[in-house]
Amino acid sequence: MNNIILLAPPAAGKGTQAGLLKEEYGIPHISTGDLLRGARNSNSENSKIICKMQDEGKLVPDELVLELLKERLDNDDCKNGYILDGFPRNIEQAKKYETLLEDLKLPLGLVILIDLDREIAKNRISGRLSCPQCGKIYNSNITELNPKNGNICDECNVELKHRSDDDASTYDVRYNTYLESTAPLIDYYESKNVLFRVNGNASKEDIYNEIKVIIDNNK
Ligand SMILES: [Zn+2]
Repeated sequence: MNNIILLAPPAAGKGTQAGLLKEEYGIPHISTGDLLRGARNSNSENSKIICKMQDEGKLVPDELVLELLKERLDNDDCKNGYILDGFPRNIEQAKKYETLLEDLKLPLGLVILIDLDREIAKNRISGRLSCPQCGKIYNSNITELNPKNGNICDECNVELKHRSDDDASTYDVRYNTYLESTAPLIDYYESKNVLFRVNGNASKEDIYNEIKVIIDNNK
């Protein structure tokens, strides 16, 4: 059983790690963003509520997110565990999530924090490029992710674009928001002895290997 909560500041490569773990352990990657998108596109009562809230720029209430999450975690493919991404974001949500787990008779599992320095993160962010045609991601500040020729996609021969949400100047705001909500969560999980820290300043492979060791030692 590998129930895993992934915590990380923006640009720490959380999505990448979740994808690798999903492959390795054959467990689903559950992001609350995806859950909401799925419910939004469904033909349900919830769909109407979510559309209305999101179109008005409001946050979908925790109760609704938890309802979707509970349904999702009750699926057979979660029997051997899952990777939870984007939830909980604060202590209140963490406590509600634990009640949900009790209802489903599931253990809390592990909380893995990918720690990343603000300055290193900003440097990564400012170098991120993507291909408008195939969507491949490059990074001019990370050697292994440089395009082969200038600012041109290796595959499509198309000029690469900076990702619009990757502006370094807005990164501080996003990082501060993360710190404010997640820092208390880190203490909370530390006090429950379920928190494991991984050095997010390392390469993608090293981060991945560190996470695997944690999971395999805590089965
Ligand atoms: Zn391309």
